[in-house]
Amino acid sequence: MSGGKGIVPMEKAEIAIVGGGILGTVLAGFLAEGGAQVLLLDDGKGGGSTVNAGSLHVQLQSRFMRMYPDQVPAIERNLHLYPKAVNYWKELEKKLRADFDLKMTGGLMIAENQDQFEFLAGKCEREAELGLDVRMIERRELQGFAPYLGAAVFGAEHCAQEGKVNPLLANMAINKWAVAAGVTVMSETPVRSIGKSASKTGFELAIPSATIKADRVVLAAGGGNRELAAGLGLALPVVSEPLHMNITEPAVPIIGHLVQHADRPITLKQFSSGHVVIGGGWPAHLRQSDKYPTVELASIIGNTTLAQHIVPAVAPLRIIRTWAGINATTDGRPVLGEFSAMPGIYAAVSGDAGYTLGPYSAKILADIILGQPPCEDLSEFSPDVYHAV
Ligand SMILES: Cc1cc2nc3c(=O)[nH]c(=O)nc-3n(C[C@H](O)[C@H](O)[C@H](O)COP(=O)(O)OP(=O)(O)OC[C@H]3O[C@@H](n4cnc5c(N)ncnc54)[C@H](O)[C@@H]3O)c2cc1C
Repeated sequence: MSGGKGIVPMEKAEIAIVGGGILGTVLAGFLAEGGAQVLLLDDGKGGGSTVNAGSLHVQLQSRFMRMYPDQVPAIERNLHLYPKAVNYWKELEKKLRADFDLKMTGGLMIAENQDQFEFLAGKCEREAELGLDVRMIERRELQGFAPYLGAAVFGAEHCAQEGKVNPLLANMAINKWAVAAGVTVMSETPVRSIGKSASKTGFELAIPSATIKADRVVLAAGGGNRELAAGLGLALPVVSEPLHMNITEPAVPIIGHLVQHADRPITLKQFSSGHVVIGGGWPAHLRQSDKYPTVELASIIGNTTLAQHIVPAVAPLRIIRTWAGINATTDGRPVLGEFSAMPGIYAAVSGDAGYTLGPYSAKILADIILGQPPCEDLSEFSPDVYHAV
């Protein structure tokens, strides 16, 4: 878990949450505020939440549409969650009286030719039907609207509901809030397995050199969820995807929006600090020996070359850091709720653009666990749709 809180030993918890990413940590904070005794365990390896680009996505990402066309119906069914999730980020920033460098800039998905423009126009029409605030912008208007875009850009789809957040600032503030709310944190603590308690009430979590008892357990371990669930005889088909990121030295304000491409993987944005963040789904390498994500030269070159092609003013900037991390996806939908096959075990997976969805997903799950009226129809998110292994 980011923020390094040190190990606080605890033998018994009312609710144990495995995974201290955005979803697990916000959930822990809400549950503690709701009066529960919460233990948050994280192996310290860092998941998507500590490495992500801070894009607050709303429109369908062309990358997912290309890679997983079969998942588009599920993403469309859940598209209404994305604007709510972005608004929820604003609420959270206000509630915590923190500064996440959250900016509602709107997002542009650019096209380089007529074919791509038509693809975006079709996407735009469908998204408007589904209630998003989107419109197409032709080259002439774009020159005034986003003058930083280069000559290669033919047109774009604009989504007014998109934005950006600085994950370093957000994670730090959220971790601090959760601890202040009463969450006990065990960082650098991998949960090796989870089993039913010998007394048949509750569960036992095996950590190095100890066992922890918990009445209820939330699986919020991102890419680690699949294995933990399988150990309990449950199916949670999370797929791990190692991805690449870059950040430049600080520069004068250049890029006003969150920028993506209709046909190629990229997200581009600039923090208030002036740093330009370049990501968007270029692959990283998963080192076989320890499954640690490491950068690939081809992704550094490909990702940054594409960035300067779209925004020429990025070209002279030095890249000061590149890194890799693990994204965790399911079948395009969030998975949030209790397993009917094993009461007391909960699934917590945000779905695509999981940082965007994280705090709102945590709110939905907190309502379920605390027995409060849920703010969403829960049938769509149940882990029961997957067959038990
Ligand atoms: C490079 C990159 C860029 C991204 N950019 C964006 C973006 O711009 N916008 C967006 O919306 N989304 C983005 N994502 C996706 C997003 O970051 C994730 O979907 C989201 O952070 C998932 O949050 P989480 O809390 O569910 O899981 P995670 O953040 O993955 O947290 C899970 C935690 O559980 C820990 N863990 C795993 N197994 C165990 C175990 N057995 N015991 C204890 N701890 C365990 C992990 O180490 C990790 O700390 C990006 C992802 C990557 C990789």
